[in-house]
This record gives sequence, C-alpha cells and structure tokens, in this order.
Amino acid sequence: MRKLDRREFLTVAAGTAAGLAGTGLQRERREIFDLVISGGHLVDPAAGMNAALDIGITGGRVVQIAEHILPSEGRRVIDATGRIVAPGLIDVHVHVFDGVAQVGIQPDLIGVARGVTTLVDGGSAGATTFPGFRDYVARQARSRVYALLNISMPGMTVPNELTDLRYVDPEAAVRTIEENRDIIVGIKVRMLAGIPGGGDVEVMRLTREAADAAAVPITVHIGGQTSPLPRILDFLRPGDVVTHALRRQGSILDERGRVYAEVREAMARGIHLDVGHGRGNLDFDVAEAVLDQGIMPTTISSDVHRGNVAGPVFDLPTTLSKFMNMGMTLEQVITAATAAPARIYDFGEPLGTLTPGAAADIAIFDLVEGAHEFMDSGGKRRSGEQGLVPYAAFRSGRDFGSITR
Ligand SMILES: [Zn+2]
Repeated sequence: MRKLDRREFLTVAAGTAAGLAGTGLQRERREIFDLVISGGHLVDPAAGMNAALDIGITGGRVVQIAEHILPSEGRRVIDATGRIVAPGLIDVHVHVFDGVAQVGIQPDLIGVARGVTTLVDGGSAGATTFPGFRDYVARQARSRVYALLNISMPGMTVPNELTDLRYVDPEAAVRTIEENRDIIVGIKVRMLAGIPGGGDVEVMRLTREAADAAAVPITVHIGGQTSPLPRILDFLRPGDVVTHALRRQGSILDERGRVYAEVREAMARGIHLDVGHGRGNLDFDVAEAVLDQGIMPTTISSDVHRGNVAGPVFDLPTTLSKFMNMGMTLEQVITAATAAPARIYDFGEPLGTLTPGAAADIAIFDLVEGAHEFMDSGGKRRSGEQGLVPYAAFRSGRDFGSITR
C-alpha cells in the first residue's frame, strides 16, 4: 500500500470541506480528520516505522501519518504524549466460544478493551459447531474475530476432541472452510494426551489432507503427542505454525535442553513457532533457554480464556511484557503480535499495520516503568522493569469505550 500524497489527500477531504462551507465556519481549506492521535511514539514494524508520529483518521481508515498534525485538524483528538502507539494487536491464540466450548470467554473482554483488535480463536469450533461460533460469537463481537477450524468436528465442545478418531473428517473441515473463508484462516489440530494408540500421526495425516485441499495453514498444538516431535513436524509445510512451543513437557527442547535440530530445520523452511501461553504452556526456564539459543517465537499469543484471564495470563499485552522482560525488544514483541500474524494468516485485508489506507485499528499503551512481577503457567515468578499497559484502542477508528483512564 502506498501513502496518499497531499493533493490526493485533499480530494479525499473535499467532502468534509464542502460540508462546512455553507455554515460559514470554513476559514481555510484545511484537512479535517475524524480523529487525530497526536504526540505518541508510533511502532509499526510492518511499515518500518518507529518514531514520534501523529495519525490522522477519517472514515475508519488511516489517511495520514505525519510528524505533526495540528489538534485543530481533528474533530476528536487523543493525546498520546508519552505513550506507545501501535497497530491494534493480533492475538493468534484465544478461546472465545463463550458458553459453548471449554473455557470460552467473551471476546470483547480480552479484545479491543485490551488493545487487541483482532482475535483468532484456536480451534474452539469444528465443522459441526462452526455455524454457532460464526453467528453468536464472531458476528456479535466488536473486536475482529477469526478462527482456526478444529480438525475434529465438535471442536472443543467435548472434553478431548481426539479421543474418538471418527470425529476427524477432513471433507467436513474443507466444506466448512469453503463456506466461511471470510473468517476461517487456518486449521487447528491439538496433540492432546489421550489420542488413542499411535493416532497422533494418523490425525496429522488427515489434517495435512484437509489443509492442502482448503489451502490454509495448519496450527499444531504440541505437548501430548505420543510420537517424537520431529515425526509431527514432518507433516508441516512452510507457513504452518507450532503452538505451545515454550511449554515444559513435549516442548521444542530435547532431553539435553537443546532446541531439536529438526525444529531449526523446520524454521529454516518457513514453519513458525507460536507461544500460546495459556494455563500450561509457557515455562520461563524453557523460554529463556530457547531465546538464549538464538531462537525467537514468530508470533506471541496469549491462549487467554476463562481459566487464565484472572492470571497467570491476563491478556496479550501482559504476555508481551513477559517477553520484553526476557530480553526481546518492544519492537520485536510488537512485530510478533502485528506484522508476523498478518504475514501468516490471510485476514482478507491488511491488518497489523497503520499504513495510509489501512483500517484504523490502533492500540495505545503506557510503557510503565517500575517493579512488575510476572508469572508463568507453572507459577514461576520473574520480576521485571517494564509493563505494557493498554490505555485505549480503536477498531476502524471507533474506541468502543476502550479508553481506560
Ligand atoms: Zn489453546
């Protein structure tokens, strides 16, 4: 996407100017934005921006990024002085099939109110339950809601969707994806303990078949596989994702604590690692060991749901703060929750960036210095110096009451 030049911009704004002309209020031909966010430090890795920049928004889209936009140029002005302004975050692993699937939480509690304008549900619904997810969750939410379709037909509406392999029906999955391409962006398969004898490889084979037929990426939840992890990785292709990569059991570390050579090879051929913090899937020792060995997760996601929203996960900004505390930079963690997800999944429009023309999905954070205590899934604590705290967020230029102070 390219930046509008000034002349084109004036054309875009002409409707606004004409509206004021008859009222005698128009003193000069000046751009009037619906919303101006001024004084903040913009971090938009996809656009290569990390600087003090103001944003002009009209019609729900970013129309101008500039060093200075006057407050008088906005019908509404948000003063972001001293704050971090970023594209609305994208959380690629949440569970929001509220009231239906295990641990589902209402999407807006963890979405736009927390600076996360786009949520990707991680397999709560499968082919038989997806119509309900679509109508009663995705369509109602103020945050953008996408989904990874569970390869098992009931999705997470049963205690372990892979205890009965008759639930795995690639054709039903493909049909459901084709009917819901606007919001299904991938397939989820969960390698849970309890998959009947050696069935993990068979499930991966069927998932591969569905993903190829529907041309969407696979996200595989690791941890409960009975086969060695490299055997599972064999089924993945470039663009696929391994989630829960930093858990204690069944992680990407071998028994000597070294990242599997096969994981490095998989990453070299374009397979991504996702965090999926959750109740049991982020171990600080594992994460620190992996980062020390020079490997960073491609995407940082929360796996937030009803069972961990009150801790230790809370939300995506807290999860990002934990990784900053482990040595990743602000720009790196924002990349892992904006530019990186937007490269992996096809959201149907450019998300995760604030280039002019993009939807005005914007998150504003306070980078709060001082003592913070963070906890991993096992209750291990780390103290840190910085925390990313949501201040306000906008989806398509609307705040939906997200301004916290
Ligand atoms: Zn999950």
